[in-house]
Order: sequence, then structure tokens, then C-alpha cells
Amino acid sequence: MAIDSNSPSFVSQLCFGSILEEQILPYPKMKEAEQETFKNIRSSIEQLLRPHEKDFREWDAKGEMPASFIEELKQFGLFSLLIPESHGGMGLSTTAYSRTLQELARWDGSVAVTVGAHSSIGLRGLLLFGTDEQKARFCPKLATGEMIACFCLTEPGAGSDAASIKTHAVRDGDDWVLNGNKLWITNGGIAQFFTVFAKTGGPGERGSVTAFIVTSDMAGVTTGPHEDKMGLRASNTTTVMFDNVRVPAANVLGEVGKGFKVAMKILNSGRTGLGGGSVGVMKKMLTLATKQAKDRVQFGKPIAEYGLIKQKLGTMVVDCYVTEAAVNLVNHLIDSGHEDYAVEAAITKVFASEAMWRTIDEALQVAGGNGFMREFPYERALRDARINRIFEGTNDILRLFISLTSMNEVGSQLKELASSLKGIFDNPIKGFGVISDYARRRAGLASNLIKRENAVFTKLHPAVQPQQQVFEALTRDLATAVDQVLRKHGKNIIGKQFASRRLADMMIDLFVLAATLSRVSTAVSEKGAASVTRELEILEVFTGQVKRRFQANFAQINENDDELVKSLANHALDLDGYTWDNV
Ligand SMILES: Cc1cc2nc3c(=O)[nH]c(=O)nc-3n(C[C@H](O)[C@H](O)[C@H](O)COP(=O)(O)OP(=O)(O)OC[C@H]3O[C@@H](n4cnc5c(N)ncnc54)[C@H](O)[C@@H]3O)c2cc1C
Repeated sequence: MAIDSNSPSFVSQLCFGSILEEQILPYPKMKEAEQETFKNIRSSIEQLLRPHEKDFREWDAKGEMPASFIEELKQFGLFSLLIPESHGGMGLSTTAYSRTLQELARWDGSVAVTVGAHSSIGLRGLLLFGTDEQKARFCPKLATGEMIACFCLTEPGAGSDAASIKTHAVRDGDDWVLNGNKLWITNGGIAQFFTVFAKTGGPGERGSVTAFIVTSDMAGVTTGPHEDKMGLRASNTTTVMFDNVRVPAANVLGEVGKGFKVAMKILNSGRTGLGGGSVGVMKKMLTLATKQAKDRVQFGKPIAEYGLIKQKLGTMVVDCYVTEAAVNLVNHLIDSGHEDYAVEAAITKVFASEAMWRTIDEALQVAGGNGFMREFPYERALRDARINRIFEGTNDILRLFISLTSMNEVGSQLKELASSLKGIFDNPIKGFGVISDYARRRAGLASNLIKRENAVFTKLHPAVQPQQQVFEALTRDLATAVDQVLRKHGKNIIGKQFASRRLADMMIDLFVLAATLSRVSTAVSEKGAASVTRELEILEVFTGQVKRRFQANFAQINENDDELVKSLANHALDLDGYTWDNV
């Protein structure tokens, strides 16, 4: 499928009531040649990791992965996945890379994150923004693992509000002199290549950030002890300190003062890696839970025969299939050169991390008391999974990003908004304050843009028509909801997080449903409806779930308990917690 790289975000167009079906149909497949490569990678990963299955539990308990095992990962080439072949790497597409992380995550979360932090965020800035000279200098060493990469953005005072970092760099001759401390850096203690973000515009300037390539051999770079974590315990996480580090100007990544854009672009394109890992864990949980349900006998029957167990297993199947549909689709958009995928990538991260959490939790429940025992893999999987809802942008912040960015597109139809909107796309989190009064005043125009004939699919297989109709109706409702919310709140939408979250949930559900419709429709076209009855059932169940959630969110736009909930929160804040202890 050819996608116009300048075509707008699919979800932003849903906010107008338009379905850009050419972006999502037909459902993509991994290229033949790459399938072969991937199959080889998959079987080699199994050969590499299966013998270490017991070790993973031990390393989790100890909170450390031995250096000898990291050497094995290097020998295997796992640090070369995204490096172009011309620089000694495997040059995998986003699709094959995400699929590889899926395989790794099935075996062990700490291994997946060690490899993922290196490629998804550690070296991605070099691939996206590096000069030819920088790539030639670093890529070969990053491919062999002689250099392991990490991404250094977070600081003690700057997490979600990444623009408030204090690390700073001052130009001195041919160098920049870098000072500051970074927190919770994955691979920090084993890395030789650091993508570091620092202020270069003087104290107090929020905007002016520059990205630097720092290497561990530069004087003044030190790392703290490995953090004692809840999950991913064997993956290395440390503080990284820069004390008067002289960084050559040749190591500036991208343009001076444009580092925030570099950081956001890295995170946007890295997010589908987390989605891939989540799908891998969900598949593993389904294998474990189905076996457990058949083996465990209670009240004279395998527990698999009970309705409540079937409900869990069936729901896990649906969650896994639809998550995979969305992750693959966004990977394909990225591989096709589509530029405007940040919202869709954020959606896969939010949906996948939460679907994975539900799936592990239910698999643990199917295992009963065994699920709680360290001897079994469930509790470790649950601990490992929790961080996925926090790092690479918390799901809360990403929900705000999804809804506000997508809604701004409605406003961007208006020429007057163009200049203020530009800032939002460069820097969506910082740009929360930018949405304009125009959006409120001109929301009426937006409502005129909702044209019934745009909210239609024309290329789906007739076998999915009932679900297609639901999707089209919900798309029109989304456009109405966006219009209503902008009309009601205008620029104050920034402070209306309850409303933004609701809209985000509607957008997330709709995008995942669009991906599922595309996947199932394409499968029917290729194999015939009789061969894909289960997939049609999945689509039917998921469409029902989405419809019910969507309608509940839609109804709450005008009728909700938001102010009461806020007042209770304020009460708890004023009195430092709960005030009705009855003793
Ligand atoms: C194991 C681990 C590995 C990590 N690896 C890396 C790494 O390799 N590189 C790196 O740079 N960082 C890394 N991080 C940091 C991670 O990205 C941050 O923890 C994350 O961005 C959230 O920041 P924070 O923890 O400071 O939370 P905060 O920003 O303090 O947020 C706390 C809570 O407040 C919410 N919140 C904050 N602002 C708002 C708002 N405006 N509106 C509504 N809610 C809000 C958040 O959603 C969250 O629920 C890692 C963290 C961990 C735990």
C-alpha cells in the first residue's frame, strides 16, 4: 500500500469525522524477504534464551544480569537490529524490529528492555538526526555492542515535564561543557554511548535544549549504583552524572536549540517497540493460562470448563489480537515513510501497556495461588509490566497528548491558527498552553466540516459490514464530541483533563477498532470468510466492547461527576488523606 508521507494523522481526521481508509487498507504484511530474516532471528533467539530460562528468575531475584550474558547478546547481534547494513547492522524495518522485541519479551522483560533501550531510544537519535560522519563514527561500534546506548532525559526535577531539565551545556571554544544529573537511565551503568539532553539557552529558558552524543571515555562522566526496582530488576538502571564534561561540538545531535524536538521524535518512533514487547508477553500469558486451565481440576472438572475462566481466556484472546493489529499497523505507517504518526504510536503504547497488564493479571488469576508464587512466571511478568504504563511518557500524559494534538488539527483548518499550532507539533507537551481562543470561536466551522459522506469506509469486505457501520457512526460521534468540547471549553480545554481523557479514550478505542477492522477485512478478502470465523468473532466482540465504552464516554461529556470528584480530591488534599476513620 502506498501512503502519502504528508498525509495527516488518521486519528486527527477522525476528529473531523473523516476516515482516511487508504492509510489503513489493505492490512499490511511483513515483506517476504524480511519474513525469512525474521524467522531466522526468532529461532536463534529461542536457541539463545531457552537455556537461560531458569537464570532469568535468578537474575531477577539478584537484580543483575551478568556481564557474560550481555556478551552473549552482543555475539548474537542483538545490538545491531536497527543499524543500517551499510554500517554493519541488520537494518531491520520498524515492523521486523518490533516483532523481534516481541520474541525477546516472551522470554524475559529485562532482556527485552536492555536491547530495546539501546535501539528504540538510545541510538535512535543518531539514526534520525546524526550526520553521515557521526553515523560512520558510532554505528559500527553500536552494532557490535562494543558501545551500548542509553537515552538520558529524565532528571530528579524533570520527569513528565521534560522541558524543565536543569542539565546544561555552555559553549567553550570547540567544545560544549556539560553539567548535570540524569535519573533512572536504562542501560546507564553498562553504556558507552549516551544521548543526552541539556539546556543551551542559559538559565530559565524552557525552550532551548540541545541533544549531545556523550561517550563514557569523556572525563567527568560517572554513573551511580544499579537501582533496586520492583520489576525489570535485571535490566540496568542508574543515575548518570556529568561534571564539566567537554563534549566536542561535532557531537551535537541535530541542531543547537532543537533538542526537544529530537527527544520527542525519538520517543514517538520508539513507542511501537513497547507495543511489540507487550504483544509478546500477552501471547506467552495465553499459552500459560490455557495450559493451566486444562491441567487444573477443581470440583471434579478442569477449570477450563467453567464460564468465568472461559470469559478470561476469551477476553485475553481479543486483547492480544487487537493490540497486535494496532501495533503492526503503526509499524507499517512508519516503515512507509508516513510522517504524522505520533498520535497513533502513542495510542499503541497506551493500549498495549494496559492490555498487557489486564492479560497478565487475568493469567495470574487463572493460576490461583500458584500465580502469587515466585516459582511461577506470573508475578514477575506483572512486576515487569507495570513500568510500561509509566516510562516513555506516562499513559496519563500520553492521553492528554493524544486528545489535544488530535483536536488541534480541527483548529488547524483555520488559517489563523497555523502559527500557534506549529509550536504544538514541535513540542506537544509544552504546547498544552497554546490551543487558541479561535478554536472556541470557530468551533461552529469545525462542526460544518463534519460531513456525513466522509465518515465512510468504501473498501472493507462486506463480511464486516455490521462492525463497519458501528465504526462509522462512532466516528461521527467523535467529531460531534470534539466540537462540543471545544465549543464548551475553548482554550480552557488545557485545564479540562477529565474531558481530554474521555476524548482520548474514545480516540484510542476507535483507532484500535480501525486497525482490527482492517486486519479482519483483509483476512476475509484473502482467505474467505469460512476460514476466518474466529477472527470475525474477535472483531464482533471487540466492536461491542468499544461501542459500550465509547457511548459511556460520550454520554459523560455533558453529564458527569467531574466537579464532585474534583471536590473530593481537594478535600483529601486539604486534610492530607482520608477523614472518616470510625474508631
Ligand atoms: C525503570 C525505569 C526506567 C527508565 N528509563 C529511562 C531512560 O532510559 N531514560 C530516561 O530519560 N528516563 C527513564 N525513565 C524515567 C521515566 O521516563 C519517567 O519516570 C517518566 O517520564 C515519568 O516521570 P516521573 O517519574 O518523574 O513522574 P512525574 O512526571 O512526577 O509524574 C507523576 C504522576 O503525575 C502525572 N502527571 C505529571 N504531570 C501531569 C500533568 N500535567 N497532568 C496530569 N498528570 C500529570 C503523571 O502522569 C504521573 O502519574 C525510567 C524510569 C523507570 C522507573
